[in-house]
Amino acid sequence: MAAAEDWEWEVAVPEKRLRDKLYFENLKSVVIDRNICSRCLTCAAVCPGGITVVDDRVDFPDYETRCMDCGACVRVCPRYVYEPKSGLGSYIKFIAGRSKRFKGQDGAMVTELIVSAMEMGLIDRGLFVSRSEDWTTEIFHVRDAEQLAIPTLGGTKYTFADVLPELKKAVMFTKRGVGIVGTPCIVSGVRRLQQEFPLFRERVKLIVGLFCTENFHYRDISRFLTEKGVDFSKLIKTDITKGKFIATMTDSEVKFKVKELEGILPSGCRVCTDFTAVESDASVGSVGSAKGYSTVVVRQKIADEIIDYIREKGYADFGEGDPAQLDYLINHKKAREKNIPK
Ligand SMILES: Cc1cc2nc3c(=O)[nH]c(=O)nc-3n(C[C@H](O)[C@H](O)[C@H](O)COP(=O)(O)OP(=O)(O)OC[C@H]3O[C@@H](n4cnc5c(N)ncnc54)[C@H](O)[C@@H]3O)c2cc1C
Repeated sequence: MAAAEDWEWEVAVPEKRLRDKLYFENLKSVVIDRNICSRCLTCAAVCPGGITVVDDRVDFPDYETRCMDCGACVRVCPRYVYEPKSGLGSYIKFIAGRSKRFKGQDGAMVTELIVSAMEMGLIDRGLFVSRSEDWTTEIFHVRDAEQLAIPTLGGTKYTFADVLPELKKAVMFTKRGVGIVGTPCIVSGVRRLQQEFPLFRERVKLIVGLFCTENFHYRDISRFLTEKGVDFSKLIKTDITKGKFIATMTDSEVKFKVKELEGILPSGCRVCTDFTAVESDASVGSVGSAKGYSTVVVRQKIADEIIDYIREKGYADFGEGDPAQLDYLINHKKAREKNIPK
């Protein structure tokens, strides 16, 4: 057996930028205080101490005494050493699809991919972002198609969701594998977790990314929408399409230019350049296909096999997608590179 003095710690922890400070102080100084934090909460998923969200900012109350200085947060943060991704990314197929079994934001292909992966035995659970009556987000571990009878599970919530801290629980309890759905920042966080921790590498089997221009803090968007006349008790759907935000209620609709939301755009979204979630196994969005369909960018073999299964079973109608329709939003986000502080 090696003598204690010969023993070396083999985990590669990134170098501290502030050498004599705790790792959380490094994360705070390089990411949070520079306003480039995306609030993906990858750090919170692995922090053994107490990284959380306080007043819409990632924080660690009492970190001076509670931070264990393990370095896990900076190992997994996609923005500690920020290499912005952009463009359409590589893909095997670019298609349009509409599930015949489920209703969703567009063609419910996200739900179809996750449920089909469960049927195929690739995963035993998928993490979905649901919502409560006031439209705050909640995470659900969907384990069978029957749970999808909960009407709030499908559809887009333009509010941050704590998906990644929940992923930690999912990988601990899964017996076959986990499927996860998320915005591009969440997808990048999952890839970092997979690079750094074997448990996530082995157990997260399917990553479905969503196209995303921006997301919002609940307090900001709910205040804004209330001032616009949205009654949350009647709200059934929110949508951003052709430059307009549309809030559909049971008896009316509120519509306004999405540009009006500029004032509440979170700082982490201002520096995000990834519209299509280039690191996912499959990305799904609205733009790029006909109304009622989801655009599906199939990137990895696992997603291709699930699409083949959906086709064989006749679970969805398929059509052609048009990648050129994504150009405007891809370029719009790429231009945000200039906002990244040097
Ligand atoms: C914040 C945000 C911004 C988006 N911006 C665009 C855009 O600019 N252009 C575009 O074409 N598409 C955008 N999308 C994607 C689009 O709204 C649809 O989610 C996508 O087309 C899939 O539709 P579907 O019917 O296949 O999904 P469904 O089958 O209805 O499933 C929707 C999935 O989205 C997940 N979800 C919902 N809200 C969130 C959230 N806040 N965080 C993480 N996961 C969530 C749910 O868990 C569910 O799994 C955005 C999505 C989000 C969440």
